[in-house]
Amino acid sequence: MRSRVEGVEIDGRHWIGGQRVDSARSFDSVSPIDEQPIAKVAAGGEAEVDQAVDAAMKAFQSWKRISREERAAYLHRIADIIEARVEQLSVVETRDNGSLLRSHRRGVMPRVAMNFRFFADWLLQLTHADFDVRGHRNHVSYDPSGVAAIITPWNAPLMLGTWRIAPALAAGCTVVYKPPEWAPLTASLLADITAEAGLPDGVFNVVQGLGREAGAALSRHPKIRRLSFTGSVPTAKTIAAAAAPNLVPLSFELGGKSPFIVFADCDLDLAVNTAIGQYDNAGQVCLSGTRILVEEGIRDRFVDAFLAKARTIKQGDPRDEASDIGPQISRPHFERVKGFVERAIGAGLKPVIGGGPNTDLGGLYFKPTLFLDPPANAEILREEIFGPVLCLQSFKSEEQAIDMANDTDYGLAGVIMTGDKARAERVTAQISAGLVWNNCFFVRDLRQAFGGNGKSGIGREGGNWSFDFYCDVKNSVYAPNGWRA
Ligand code: NAD
Repeated sequence: MRSRVEGVEIDGRHWIGGQRVDSARSFDSVSPIDEQPIAKVAAGGEAEVDQAVDAAMKAFQSWKRISREERAAYLHRIADIIEARVEQLSVVETRDNGSLLRSHRRGVMPRVAMNFRFFADWLLQLTHADFDVRGHRNHVSYDPSGVAAIITPWNAPLMLGTWRIAPALAAGCTVVYKPPEWAPLTASLLADITAEAGLPDGVFNVVQGLGREAGAALSRHPKIRRLSFTGSVPTAKTIAAAAAPNLVPLSFELGGKSPFIVFADCDLDLAVNTAIGQYDNAGQVCLSGTRILVEEGIRDRFVDAFLAKARTIKQGDPRDEASDIGPQISRPHFERVKGFVERAIGAGLKPVIGGGPNTDLGGLYFKPTLFLDPPANAEILREEIFGPVLCLQSFKSEEQAIDMANDTDYGLAGVIMTGDKARAERVTAQISAGLVWNNCFFVRDLRQAFGGNGKSGIGREGGNWSFDFYCDVKNSVYAPNGWRA
């Protein structure tokens, strides 16, 4: 089960208790660039998950006891190795999930290293003030909780995986990670990296496999103590039901259908450029502002400028530095995106740009698409598509913009473009979302809370929120004069 991908050796077996472990069955990782199989990967199930959870439980007994400084040092060593391997990780990830190579090199892989550095440093200053109540001293401690199960999707595989793995390890949990079957390869490289960093056996484990097999076995496992899931709403419901009998605390980061509100007083160039950015990663971004709401007075100017700019987007092989967007992840996902667009057209909506596969490129490339004025109940306006498909509507007043923005089951993010600071604050306060950007997009600081409202998720991670989730937070009370000599 060894393959070479872009010149990099990949071991597609699981990583359990510090050893490579095989499975009787395997699956092919297929590249979205040309739909060719590029590596064989082990297809784990119940038995491999049991083995990994046992290894993680055993390792937990010593991992939970080592000092914070030692734990942080391991995480920094992992970050050092990731930094030294940015190129290797970037070329493999691009071949495996079809996201831009230039983004992996310059943004995503450095952020992967940052995930480890940040939580290592945060761990060292993690504190909660003691306080006295009628002379009794109250103290809060962050106790490691046990084995954390982590399940993540394919749209930014290593970044999203490590954004959970790093805080879990920092919190003193041991980890069983189930990577996405549509882009599983960098998880195998991460196992190599943790071994090279000297992480004790069993502290970090990878079970490769399909969601309905390995993922399902992990989510119902009675011995996991935390479950962090990033992915779609239907899978979240299945996982929540599977984990319910064990009363495992859940952290869910799910889909979105976020509003992108453009007021007439905005900087139009900035608004148009930022709106075009919602096509990034071929629309496969949970945070995308896919519902563009434009104030009536500037609607025509905005649409003209948007279309002029959208026509310059270069779609192509994500390994080409000149490409702006690449393919969809897989044939089933491509067909799903196409289905949404075809049904919208069938219902009488006309795309003003795009509207179908990019026939010049073939394969899984879908053209950046924009629909104008879908009715409020249109499927294309209500469902997360996770492709390069945006809708644009207009509004007459601030109140109407807020109503339209909040008319969704989701609540992950929102973008507001305005030149009026008071309005920005007023509207932000009324948008139901975990994250609101004013005159910007995708600016993230790991100290901040991250998560969504409604169907976009349960809980928050980032900074202290991550430790609140992965740790058993304990309050201890010390009585005054309670000590006997
Ligand atoms: P998905 O739900 O199909 O799969 C996500 C993960 O769950 C994969 O690892 C998969 O193997 C696993 N899985 C599938 N079925 C399972 C089951 N029955 N039991 C346990 N695990 C199972 O999602 P996807 O298509 O891979 O990813 C796209 C979705 O992820 C979109 O909805 C997107 O918005 C969301 N997402 C959210 C965030 C966020 O931070 N909020 C970030 C990225 C992606």
